[in-house]
Amino acid sequence: MSQQGYVAAPPYSQAQPGMGGYQGGFGGGPTQPLYGHYGGPSQAFGAPPTGIMKSPVSSATGMPPPPVSSQYNPNIQQNGAHSQRYPAPPAAASPYGQPPHSPYNNMASPGPQTQQVTNQMGAMNLGNYAPMQSPPPPTSPVAQQSFQTPPPPASSLPQMPPGPQSPHMSPQMTPPQSPPSSMSMGGPPMGSHSMAGPPMVGQSMAGPPMAGQSMAGPPMAGQSMAGPPMAGQSMAGPPMAGQSMAGPPMGISFPGASPGGFQQPGPGPAGPGYPQQAGQFGGHLAGPQPGMPGSFPGASAALAGPPQKKMDPDSIPSITQVIEDDKAKYGGQVFSTNIRGQVPPLVTTDFTVQDQGNASPRFIRCTTYSLPCTTDLAKQCQVPLASIIKPFANLPKNETPLYVVNHGETGPVRCNRCKAYMCPYMQFIDGGRRFQCSFCSCVNEVPAFYFQHLDHVGRRVDFYERPELSLGSYEFAATLDYCKNNKIPNPPAFIFMIDVSYNNIKSGLVKMICDELKTLLEKLPREEGTDISAVKVGFVTYNKVLHFYNVKSALAQPQMMVVSDTAEMFVPLLDGFLVNYQESKAVIYNLLDQIPDMFADTNESETVFAPVIQAGVEAFKAAECNGKLFIFHSSMPTAEAPGKLKNRDDKKLVNTDKEKTLFQPQRGIYEQLSKECVAQGCCVDLFLFPSQYLDLATMANVPSHTGGSVYKYNNFQMETDGEHFLRDLRKDVQKSLGFDAIMRVRTSTGFRATDFYGAVHMNNTTDIEMAAVDCDKAVTVEFKHDDTLSEETGALMQCALLYTTIGGQRRLRIHNLSLNCSSQLSELYKNCETDSLINFFAKSAYHAILNQPVKNVREILVHQTAHMLACYRKNCASPSAASQLILPDAMKVFPVYMNSLMKTGPLVGSTELPTDDRTHQRLSVMGMGVEDTQLLLYPRLIPLHNLDVSSEVVPAPVRCSEERLADSGVFLLENGHSMFLWLGQASPPDLMQSIFNVPSLAHLQGQMCTLPELDNPLSKKVRSIISDLLQKRSNSMKLQIVRQRDKPEMLFRQFLVEDKGLYGGASYMDFLCYVHREIRQLLT
Ligand SMILES: [Zn+2]
Repeated sequence: MSQQGYVAAPPYSQAQPGMGGYQGGFGGGPTQPLYGHYGGPSQAFGAPPTGIMKSPVSSATGMPPPPVSSQYNPNIQQNGAHSQRYPAPPAAASPYGQPPHSPYNNMASPGPQTQQVTNQMGAMNLGNYAPMQSPPPPTSPVAQQSFQTPPPPASSLPQMPPGPQSPHMSPQMTPPQSPPSSMSMGGPPMGSHSMAGPPMVGQSMAGPPMAGQSMAGPPMAGQSMAGPPMAGQSMAGPPMAGQSMAGPPMGISFPGASPGGFQQPGPGPAGPGYPQQAGQFGGHLAGPQPGMPGSFPGASAALAGPPQKKMDPDSIPSITQVIEDDKAKYGGQVFSTNIRGQVPPLVTTDFTVQDQGNASPRFIRCTTYSLPCTTDLAKQCQVPLASIIKPFANLPKNETPLYVVNHGETGPVRCNRCKAYMCPYMQFIDGGRRFQCSFCSCVNEVPAFYFQHLDHVGRRVDFYERPELSLGSYEFAATLDYCKNNKIPNPPAFIFMIDVSYNNIKSGLVKMICDELKTLLEKLPREEGTDISAVKVGFVTYNKVLHFYNVKSALAQPQMMVVSDTAEMFVPLLDGFLVNYQESKAVIYNLLDQIPDMFADTNESETVFAPVIQAGVEAFKAAECNGKLFIFHSSMPTAEAPGKLKNRDDKKLVNTDKEKTLFQPQRGIYEQLSKECVAQGCCVDLFLFPSQYLDLATMANVPSHTGGSVYKYNNFQMETDGEHFLRDLRKDVQKSLGFDAIMRVRTSTGFRATDFYGAVHMNNTTDIEMAAVDCDKAVTVEFKHDDTLSEETGALMQCALLYTTIGGQRRLRIHNLSLNCSSQLSELYKNCETDSLINFFAKSAYHAILNQPVKNVREILVHQTAHMLACYRKNCASPSAASQLILPDAMKVFPVYMNSLMKTGPLVGSTELPTDDRTHQRLSVMGMGVEDTQLLLYPRLIPLHNLDVSSEVVPAPVRCSEERLADSGVFLLENGHSMFLWLGQASPPDLMQSIFNVPSLAHLQGQMCTLPELDNPLSKKVRSIISDLLQKRSNSMKLQIVRQRDKPEMLFRQFLVEDKGLYGGASYMDFLCYVHREIRQLLT
C-alpha cells in the first residue's frame, strides 16, 4: 500500500462543499474537490483554458509513422512457431531506436466527436445526432478489404515512410481513430437524422443505418476508435459494415427539469419486503431530499419545471452493450503493440496480443493513452493519469512467454544516469558505438560486448535477434549484483500453518486441509521447463502454542516439537523442517494423516497469530530463502502473546469522522512484522474461517503489505463452503509468482510516478517492494507532471521488476510502454480507458478512507466525475442545449461504474455491513488489476432460460437491474467473488426438471451450492458455463441458489448495481441525473 498520496493532498483535508454539503453549506458554489491529485486551485470553466482548442486536432507531431509492413504472417505470433530466437516483428518495422515512432494520430484528426443521443422525454424522439464540429476524416475505399490487404500509407503524408503495421491486424486493432460519429451512423455526417428506433447509447441501432451489421451504435469506451483515421487504416474507409465506427461522445438530454429525477424516486430495487434503506449517500440522490432544491442555486429554475416522466432506462449508456460491441469488433483478433498510445480492446474482450515493442495490455493498462502536455491541462480536466501494472499477468497459451536475455556476468545494459534498462526506445548513434537514453537523454557508450553495426536506417542489424531491442516485455537474467548479499538465492519454500483450535477441528476443516494437501503438494509450481518443483515445504500447527514438524525423509515417523514461549519465537529445528516434498513424501503423508487425530479431542479455543507469522519469517531467515506462508485461521487471537487483539468493532463509528479507525490496523507488532516479512521475502496468504468479528484490518495487515491474499469464509461449513475453499486453495498454491520483488517505474522526462496502490510495501518514494507478486496482483501507479511533455517524443515508461523465480533464479522483468502526449484535451478524452480509470478510483478512494470520512470520499468521487465530464463538455464537445448530458465516448459508462463503486461495502457507510467484510473488500481491491475491478463493479448477469444447448456460446449478459429479470427466467450472476443462480418464481417446470431434477421450483431444497450432475443437454450446458467461469476467475466463488422473493434474494439484489443500493446509494438513472445537474452548475 502506498505510504503517501491521497492523504497528503489538500482536498481531503477538509470537507468539500457541494454534493456533500447537503447537510452543511450549500452556498459555496461548485467548488471543486480535487480528489487528491492536483493541489492547485480549482479550475474555472468560465474562461477559455489556455492551450485548448476546440477545433480539430492538428497533427500532433511531425514524425513519420512507422512503416507499414505487408510481410507479417498472422500466424507467426503463435507460441513456439518461430525458428528464430524470438518472434521477429514484421521485417519492415523500424519503430524503435529511431526517433520515437510517430503516433498515428497525427493525421488529419477530426477533432472530438459528439454523439448526442437525445432522449426527448415523452416523445422519445431519440437519435438526434448533433453536428460535428470537425470535418469527417478522409475516407478511402480500403476499408472493406483491410483485413486482407495491407493498407496503403496515408495519402496525406506521402513523404512519410510506411508504418510497421501488420496488415491483418491493423484494421481491427491499431487505429486509434475513427471516423466522426456522424459517419458511424451511416447517415450524413452532420446534422440530425432520425434513427428508425431510438438509438441509445451503446444500443444497437434499431433501424439499420446499414445492412445487417453491428453498427451497434456508438463507439465504446476505451476504444481506440475515437481518433482520427490513420494511414492505411481501414477506418479511413467509409463507415460500413460492422466496422468500428466510433461514434461520437454521447449526449442524453434531460428536457424539462433535469433534477426532476430527484423528485421521483427512480426505479430502485426496493420492492415489497425490502425496506428502503436510509443510505447516507444514496438517499441524497435517490429520493426526495428535504432542502435539496435550495441548496443548488443554479438549479432552482430547473426544479420549477414540469414533473418529469420516467426516463427510459434503455436510453442511458449500457455497460453490457459496450462490452458486446467491443467483443464484436475485436473478439478473437490480434492486437499488435507497435503503435504508440494505442488504446487496447476492453479487458472483457478475448483477443490475442502480439508484442511489437510495447508491453501487452495484460501487463500494463492506462487511464488514458494520450497524456496532456502540461500540468495545467492535467489539472483542468482532473482525469487521473495512471497505469495499472500487473507484472506477472498470465498469458494465454497462444501468446509467447517472455524471453530471457542473458548477458552473462556483465548483466543487462543500462543507462548510466537514470539506470533505465536497454529497451526499444534507446537510440543508437555514432555508428552504433553509443546510445542515447530516451528516458533521460544521457548519451552512453555501448559496452564492447554489446556493440553492433547500424543499418541504413540507423537501426542495429541485430534488431530482431534481441528481445530487448524490439519487444515491449522481456526478462534479463540478473547477476550477483542484483542478489541479496551477492549470493544466488535458494529456491523458495511454502509453509502450511494450520490453526488446530477447537473450532477448526470441530468443523472438519483441519482434516479437509490435510487431505487436500496430499494431492495439492504434487502440483507445486515449477520453473518453466522443469519436471520437479524446487519449492520446499514445511508444516506448523498451532493454537496457543506452536507445533513444528520434522519431516526429514530419513525418518520413519514425523516428529513434533512444541514451542510454548510465543513471546520469543524461534524455530526449534532447521534440518528436516523445510524439505523437498518428493523426497519426504512418505513422512509428510504420515503427518497429514496424523494431524486431525492428534488434535481430535482438543478443547483449546484460544489462538495466537503474530507468533505464527514470526515463526515463518524466522524459518525463512534460518534457511536463507524466500517463500510463502499459508495460514488457516479461525478466530481473533486472544491468547496471551505478542499481537493479541481485542474486539474494537464499533458500529456507532459508521458515518462519523472516526469511521476510518475501523479500517485502520492497530499499530504495533503487525507493522513491524510486515517490514520483517518484506525484508525476508516472506509473503503471507491468509485463509480465515471466522464466526464473528476478528479485526481483519489488523490481521490482514501483513498479507496486504507482502503481496499476499486474504480469503474469508464466514461461518464455514464443510457441506456448503468446503468446495469453495478448496478451489481457492488449489488456485492459490498453484499460482505463478515471483518472490522478494522490487519494482521501479521509470519515466521519460516531464512526468513521474508519484503514488502507488497495491498489496505492497514502500520504504522510500520510488521502490515498490513485494515479498511476492503473483499473476493476479496489480499495482496502480499515478503519474504527475514535472514539466511540459512533448507531442513529438511522447511519454515513455519502463517498469522493471527484480525478483526471484519459483526455481530460485534472480531475474529482471521489464515492461515498456509508450504513450502519446497532446496539448488537446480532446485527445485525452478520446483515448481514455474507463475500466482503468475505475480501477484507479476504486483504489485511491479505498486508500483515502483510511484517513478521511467515507462521506467526504464519496463527495469527492461525485464531484470529480462531474468535473471530468464538465471539462469535456466545455472544451471538447460541440455546443448543445444545456439539457443534454454530453459524455465523451470513451467514458460514456464511467458514471455507472462510479455509482457502483460508491455503493460498495467500504464506501457505503451502512451499519448493516460487518466491519470485517468491508475491510476485506477494501484490501482485496487494493491488489486488483483492471479485469477484476471491472467485474466487481459491474457483475455479469447471464440469462440461462433461453440457452441454445447446441451452441458453445454463452448468452450475452444483460444489465444489472431488476427490470431485466423475468418471473419465468433463470439468471446467473457473478462478480468474481460471489455467484448466484436466480430462479424466477414462474420458472418453467421443464427447466427445473432439467437443471435440478425436481418437478417444480417449489420442490427445490434450500442450501444447495452445487448443481446435480444430470445427463441432459441443458444441465450439462449450465454446469459447463459455471465451471468455465470458476476456472477463469482468480478467486473461486460459492454458488448460491436463490428464488425470487425468498429472503436470501436480498443477497443477490445488492449486485444489481444499476438499481438503488440496498444499503444506500442511488440508482444509475438518478446518479446520472445528479451528475448532469452538477455539470450544468459547473458550466454556468
Ligand atoms: Zn537514462
